[in-house]
Amino acid sequence: MISHDAATTRMPVVFFGHGNPLNALHANAWTRGWTAVGQHLPQRPRAVLCVSAHWYVPGTALTAAQNPRTIHDFGGFPRELFDVQYPAPGAPDLVRRVGELLRPTRVGRDVEWGLDHGTWSVLRHVFPAADVPVVQLAIDATQPLAFHYELGRRLRPLRDEGVLVIGSGNVVHNLRAYVWDNQPAEPFDWALRFDARVRELVVQGDHAALVDYPALGPDAALAIPTPDHYLPLLYVLGASHAGEAVTFPVEGIEGGSMSMLSIQWG
Ligand code: ZN
Repeated sequence: MISHDAATTRMPVVFFGHGNPLNALHANAWTRGWTAVGQHLPQRPRAVLCVSAHWYVPGTALTAAQNPRTIHDFGGFPRELFDVQYPAPGAPDLVRRVGELLRPTRVGRDVEWGLDHGTWSVLRHVFPAADVPVVQLAIDATQPLAFHYELGRRLRPLRDEGVLVIGSGNVVHNLRAYVWDNQPAEPFDWALRFDARVRELVVQGDHAALVDYPALGPDAALAIPTPDHYLPLLYVLGASHAGEAVTFPVEGIEGGSMSMLSIQWG
């Protein structure tokens, strides 16, 4: 049950840079950072609401299945990755509550979509027992940038109701430039610069600049060739409070062009 009383501590809000789906299987610097986020929460969340880069569709929707399926939404990875199951239950009461908070935006209830790898590749490390209910919120690809930030704003009360709101994407995500092998790759200059710029704007609380990212220039165009992996940031940014403490539980660039930056408010 989602409680509306004041008996719960305010939950943090977290953006995770999920990167390569294989992180689901590995224990590395990134995944150890994700595990630590789960271990240091002020309390066990009643549920997780996740905005994943991989549910980027024409419309706002929530996963409404009682037991959302584990979606293997990728190709060309080892069998072991396709065998991963993340059997976290759904949360019908959270679906109702989010529908309420997002009014008048029309929010579909989707029983077909389940948890995609943007969600489970991270949550497998944050909540390994898959015992915290999870609901995904789709990103409406037809909406302007400010819409996503505004929805994040409306989600903010959930933090005082024991819900952990997370975004899963990457602030720098250029697969054309990505080095797909196991060799360490030097980060591109533009990737380092844009990653640093995002951090700086987050620390300064300059949300307007983060929302209107195309105005950040050529580095932004290289870092964000398509908006899907960046937009989850705007939801969690919207759900943050002015002046709230910001930390970066995971930092670094993988494969030259993928920022693994995670950002936590509160
Ligand atoms: Zn991804």
